[in-house]
Amino acid sequence: MKNIKLVSRETKEQTIIAIGALKIGQDFALIAGPCSIESEEQMYATALAVKEAGANMLRGGAFKPRTSPYAFQGLGLKGLKILEKVGKELGLPVVTEVLDTRDVSWVCEYVDVLQIGARNMQNFSLLKEVGRVDKPVLLKRGMYSTLSEWLNCAEYILNEGNQNVILCERGIRTFETYTRNTLDLSAVPAIKELSHLPIIVDPTHGTGKISLIPPMSLAAVVAGADGLIIEVHNNPEVALSDKDQALRPEEFARLAQQVFQLKKYMGTLQ
Ligand code: PEP
Ligand code: MN
Repeated sequence: MKNIKLVSRETKEQTIIAIGALKIGQDFALIAGPCSIESEEQMYATALAVKEAGANMLRGGAFKPRTSPYAFQGLGLKGLKILEKVGKELGLPVVTEVLDTRDVSWVCEYVDVLQIGARNMQNFSLLKEVGRVDKPVLLKRGMYSTLSEWLNCAEYILNEGNQNVILCERGIRTFETYTRNTLDLSAVPAIKELSHLPIIVDPTHGTGKISLIPPMSLAAVVAGADGLIIEVHNNPEVALSDKDQALRPEEFARLAQQVFQLKKYMGTLQ
């Protein structure tokens, strides 16, 4: 691993990122919410359900990186205002994706964590820009990226001054087409060997299949993930993006229970 200095485990044991009461890298982060922010009603209903199930952070996209330019692109500022309001009402910190360097500084006014999506992992201008703000960054693994390329992208952010990066494994492209991506869970213990940064897992984009999200979430916990980020929608049938991979609130609640039980059991092994 050449050129990896600031993110290397050799420089530090473990990064712990405090976001309100939540300490990522120490506490288990259970981040949930819809793919896209669609309305205040949708956001509130979903957020209330995930909070009651035990989620400790809320997700929601206001700028969506869609394959087609004709697909729903997100509500932008209107969506961020909804996300901020619902997060505050329920006492949940919020995370959203930024796509453009021009949006970074003003989006920071509405959210607790900035997400860099898989498609932008190697957008070096964007990495430098989020490296200069004082909000933690959730850096997703690019779908064609090696661990070395990914860690170098985190290095870009730390090199600009921002030390608070959370890595997120969200699946890579392989020859397999049954799943949306191939969730590379070996990345979790591998990153733990190489870096002090916390790493969470996104089994939603990692599999693209409702039935595979619970087992892969549990597998991620066993692999040592510092958290999970899962798409949940109060009414998936009418979701404006990623409707086929959104868990219903009751499915998420069941999974959250299993995650907590598994964490408790793992505690007894240490
Ligand atoms: C998302 O989290 O909504 C998203 C677009 O994820 P990714 O960048 O991993 O595809
Ligand atoms: Mn999505």
